[in-house]
Amino acid sequence: MYNVAQVIDEKCVAKKGCRLCIMYCPEANCLDLNPTKMVAEVVIDRCKGCELCVIVCDAAKHYVITMQAVSATGKLMTQKGESAALGQAYQG
Ligand code: SF4
Ligand code: SF4
Repeated sequence: MYNVAQVIDEKCVAKKGCRLCIMYCPEANCLDLNPTKMVAEVVIDRCKGCELCVIVCDAAKHYVITMQAVSATGKLMTQKGESAALGQAYQG
């Protein structure tokens, strides 16, 4: 079990030109613009959970990215935009 970044689509201001998280993510092909939805999008399989994207998005006062628990099989354990419950952090 580990955490990955997830963007709350409705709040992302990429359509206004923000690319902060995309510029700061240290992983190649991990956080990029979804040109159809015009929001930043995280590739779950590639995210290392470093939270740099959360820091820069919050620093710009957008507060759009949350860390979400992912199971050992790579499936999100919570719905997008919902924080992982404390107990879930200890399930395989
Ligand atoms: S930094 Fe935040 S608001 Fe800007 S593109 Fe990334 S998720 Fe969207
Ligand atoms: S948590 Fe780190 S690796 Fe994952 S999307 Fe954010 S900056 Fe990239």
